[in-house]
Amino acid sequence: MPMMHLPRGFLRTSADAFRPKTIIDTLFDYGTFLNKNPSIASDSRNTQLEVLVIGGGAAGLSAAYELSKIKNSSGKSALKITLAEATDRLGGRMDSQIYLDPGYKNKIFELGCMRFPPTSTTLYHYFNEFGIPTTPNFPDPGKVPTTLYYMNDVYPWPAGQDTPDSPLFKRLGEGFKQIITYLLGDPNAINYSTPSKLFDFWAIYDKTPTETNKAAVVKAWQIMIDRYKDTTFYTGIFQLARNPAVMQKLDLWTTDDMNAFGALGVGSGGFSPLFPINFLEIIRLFANGWEDNQELVADGIVTLVNAFEKRLIANGVDIRLNQPLTFANDPTNMYFLPSNTICWEDTNKPGYRVKLKDGTEKFFNAIVVATTTRAMELMNLTVPRKATDNLRVQYLSKTPQAAVGIRNLNIISSSKLFVLTKKKFWYSKNNRFKRDLVQNIQTDGLFRGLYCLNYDGDSQQDGKGVVLISYVWGDDSDRLLAMSAQDRYEHFLEVIKQIDPDFAKALEENRITGNDATDPWKAGRNYIDWQDTPYQYGAFKLNYPGQEANCHDVFFQYQTPSPTIKYPQNIFLAGDSVSWAGGWLEGALPTGINAACAVSQCLEQHVATGNPLNIGASMYQYDKPPVI
Ligand SMILES: Cc1cc2nc3c(=O)[nH]c(=O)nc-3n(C[C@H](O)[C@H](O)[C@H](O)COP(=O)(O)OP(=O)(O)OC[C@H]3O[C@@H](n4cnc5c(N)ncnc54)[C@H](O)[C@@H]3O)c2cc1C
Repeated sequence: MPMMHLPRGFLRTSADAFRPKTIIDTLFDYGTFLNKNPSIASDSRNTQLEVLVIGGGAAGLSAAYELSKIKNSSGKSALKITLAEATDRLGGRMDSQIYLDPGYKNKIFELGCMRFPPTSTTLYHYFNEFGIPTTPNFPDPGKVPTTLYYMNDVYPWPAGQDTPDSPLFKRLGEGFKQIITYLLGDPNAINYSTPSKLFDFWAIYDKTPTETNKAAVVKAWQIMIDRYKDTTFYTGIFQLARNPAVMQKLDLWTTDDMNAFGALGVGSGGFSPLFPINFLEIIRLFANGWEDNQELVADGIVTLVNAFEKRLIANGVDIRLNQPLTFANDPTNMYFLPSNTICWEDTNKPGYRVKLKDGTEKFFNAIVVATTTRAMELMNLTVPRKATDNLRVQYLSKTPQAAVGIRNLNIISSSKLFVLTKKKFWYSKNNRFKRDLVQNIQTDGLFRGLYCLNYDGDSQQDGKGVVLISYVWGDDSDRLLAMSAQDRYEHFLEVIKQIDPDFAKALEENRITGNDATDPWKAGRNYIDWQDTPYQYGAFKLNYPGQEANCHDVFFQYQTPSPTIKYPQNIFLAGDSVSWAGGWLEGALPTGINAACAVSQCLEQHVATGNPLNIGASMYQYDKPPVI
């Protein structure tokens, strides 16, 4: 949920506040597992088995990379891996559009992921391994000079101030913090002697990882699951904000307060598009520390994609771009297989026959499907089959609940619009008003959040500028779908004029406009609607109330039982939409590692000890009916 960002130090005010190394839903430390095991498995045979990874996003890249490092008894790669990506580039929702700015750093439009919380231990493991630096230079509201615009009023928020100059948003901020602390405890003041809240138990387990201490963490999170898995964000937060025992001396929230909270959150961006989402998803975000201290990759997240690609090539992975794959409607029809299609191999040789785009046919012993769940559905992975007597009923026949989860899980929309500017006009020396302008605007108007990005670093005021004019999701994104980039820009500009006319003028004067509006490189702007992007069909998974059990079924699908029966299902799912962290790289990357371990196990290799195949799928229960 990358859009949920809060002022720095909103919850964790002290530098040594508790920051978890694991995700609460798995309590598995992927960073440490990878650090300890440069190769996740080994193969004592001298074979080379074939594995297909579908999808070149973060999950497909991590799966292919980890698999490509496994060696056989002669020290060669134990697996031959083909990575099939439908589009003409690797990265998926890691999509950095780069503009050259001679003499300065490249300017980047991050159309997909952009801000990374350091509690993402798997992601930071790869950043460290590949030498990719991060910077805390993201112009979050309140970190840089900010303006709030709510119900036709302008509220300044000077840089460095904890809360906006608005009693309303200050009060909402205090109330929201009080609610989160009531639910999870205070990460700045862990109570080790008489633990009572999730953070207390978790910090104790982090220090002393015994089974007893783990059981206490699980018990504390299970309480959150039972209470909130069937509740919307709106209902959950409003009920708590109306509870005097929770709010203590603070004013109880009114419907108007909920409206303001929906429009602008605590001043840092509105939450209303998230109101229909399961409240547990929001609590999960704070539990895992994803709202905290988010960082930017100054050279673009594409550097992570490039680093993976370089290593995949070095490890002999066959990367096929422009290679969209679908599963054959008749899983057994291998004799008339059209191109770009996968079907079962015959019964004596369990695995899959695939006809690639170039007409070549290949046999694969196992497949990782690392796409969004919507793409999985559209590639026929979950099409219900008529029962036959030979068990080859459905590709996910051994995990039918996962097929249901793929069909059910909610994926939210998201849109972004960026423009390139001749100068960083927000600095006084670069505009005709000779004053510093705001660098962040949050509003209840249609563009919602505007960010002035300085990719050259805080101290460099020269060079071109990048403005993320609008970053919206959910309903706010859907309503833009029918508008062109130009229409959107003009509409947003009208709103900006109301909020800060000087800013609007400076933006207009500095915006790079090309004469070819169809070419974003020349037009100096670009936009994306992820729900309208081929092979994506949405931005990120966020569970609705009642979908935690679906999420459990898709996440744990990689733990498919017994690979040795006659018709093994050697298909393993990966991607942030089958994770506990939809909308975060920290969701996608671990699922790639899970799937890689599962492939390795089903091909009877020796998977390193302490691997994620042992995460207890029944650690938490998600099926308790709600209390009416
Ligand atoms: C607007 C936006 C903002 C975000 N912000 C952040 C952020 O700030 N921080 C953060 O950590 N995360 C953020 N995320 C989330 C992050 O980008 C994703 O979690 C991650 O990139 C998903 O990786 P993935 O491998 O699961 O899926 P994807 O990146 O979607 O990769 C799936 C790949 O499969 C391919 N594919 C689909 N169908 C087929 C087929 N039939 N055959 C072959 N290939 C196919 C697709 O083309 C795609 O390349 C954001 C996402 C979006 C959309």
